[in-house]
Amino acid sequence: MSRKITIVGAGLVGSLWATLAAKRGHSVEVFEKRLDPRKSALAAGRSINLVITSRGLHGLERAGLLQDALALCVPVYGRYIHTLDSQTRFQPYGREGDCNYSVSRTGLNRFLIDAAERAGAVFHFAQGLSEVDFDKRILRFSTAQGKVDHGFELLFGADGAASVVRKELVRDSSGSIQESTDWLDVDYKELLIPPGPNGSFPVEKNALHIWPRGSHMMMALANLDGSFTVTLYLPKSGSEVAFDRLKSPGSVQALFESQFPDAIRLMPGYEQQFVENPQGVLGNVHCSRWTRGDRAALLGDAAHAIVPFFGQGMNSGFEDCTVLLDCLHRHGDDWGSVLATYESIQRENAQAIATMAVENWVEMRDRVADPQFQLRKQVEAFLEREHPTRYRSRYGMIAYTLIPYRLAQLAGHVQEKMLAELCAGLESAEKLDPAKALASLEKYFEPFVQKHALSLKAYRPG
Ligand code: FAD
Repeated sequence: MSRKITIVGAGLVGSLWATLAAKRGHSVEVFEKRLDPRKSALAAGRSINLVITSRGLHGLERAGLLQDALALCVPVYGRYIHTLDSQTRFQPYGREGDCNYSVSRTGLNRFLIDAAERAGAVFHFAQGLSEVDFDKRILRFSTAQGKVDHGFELLFGADGAASVVRKELVRDSSGSIQESTDWLDVDYKELLIPPGPNGSFPVEKNALHIWPRGSHMMMALANLDGSFTVTLYLPKSGSEVAFDRLKSPGSVQALFESQFPDAIRLMPGYEQQFVENPQGVLGNVHCSRWTRGDRAALLGDAAHAIVPFFGQGMNSGFEDCTVLLDCLHRHGDDWGSVLATYESIQRENAQAIATMAVENWVEMRDRVADPQFQLRKQVEAFLEREHPTRYRSRYGMIAYTLIPYRLAQLAGHVQEKMLAELCAGLESAEKLDPAKALASLEKYFEPFVQKHALSLKAYRPG
């Protein structure tokens, strides 16, 4: 039965859900605080690019948008590590054919809004939600014309990390808001590597460039036009290399000369960019509930904003949409059951990826340069290569399969144990005894895979 669906937030997740819901025949309206990002570059918000992996691809495929979306992307096959002495080393992500896709946030958002409109969704821009009355099913928006009320039947809050829908949803009877954020002591800033001559790529385009430096880290991802978006992650304060020490172009220059010397030639005017560009904060959001009976649910960052170090924020938000769709198939028009099942499936998955994203921060900034970690990665690569149907790394499960995050997290614990045993006393990956490796796989990993009936095959769309 067609229902009237109201979505707050026309970001990536709200726009995808609008497309999916409209394609199922629902009448969909979307309210967005910003101006239309297709008409105003400034209103488009954060300029960063993002990585799409299996769950994001799956969401796009379910909406019939995958092939067109891929045309907006640059494939990324692994990490390109830049060491302090300006050496470089390539670490493939997984097996041959495994890759991530770098895409412009603004480009993808515009594409998804267009798609949702084609599917029949109606967008209202410059409408910031300020209040929700769940009992009377009324939304109050601030607009240029003043406060405007809209009734709703079924509400989805896709209004991002600072969600107003969430704050209203988790307010308890005493009026207190049951949510919290675990802030990281690290902030980020974006810089730009401009395209080379004639739109060429000044460094390897099909890789995530990483400058891991222990307490801090820099990353760069290619855009279609030959440029790279650079993200610099530094402690807020409390160390020599921290944002509060970097207030002048001179101090920024000293930072780059000592920490990222090989990046300087790529970024003319980086000191000025650093001083002028905003400093973003990072954290994992937790809240007491995601749904309210048969009338409201949170999606994407509104439900579970996470730190970006697994590149899964949007991907997990797109997974929310596909899980909701599956719940609709299962429960039909019984929205109370649809929303309750959705929450029971996705909440534990969101918790798992939030925890793993913080772990990945430590891995990316620090451990990728550690010889023991590299040995472990090489042993994993051996297992993936020699036993492609029987072994997949945790990263591979998260980025290339649709195995629920919670199970990937548990599988990761099993792998930790197994790899620690295989690497104990091992001088180099070449000296690994293949028979011992197989025995270990059969002892530790296979029973887990069988118990949970996991398919380790990569999700390949189409
Ligand atoms: P948002 O994109 O925040 O959209 C929310 C929308 O709601 C916005 O349009 C906003 O204007 C609107 N809104 C807000 N309040 C109101 C209101 N009161 N009324 C009406 N509208 C409102 N994820 C990945 O999957 N891969 C990556 O590689 C990746 N890299 C990242 C790198 C960085 C540095 C950061 C910070 C994040 C990264 N993420 C990544 C996470 C990703 O950006 C988010 O998870 C994703 O944008 C969430 O989408 P969303 O639609 O839920 O929220």
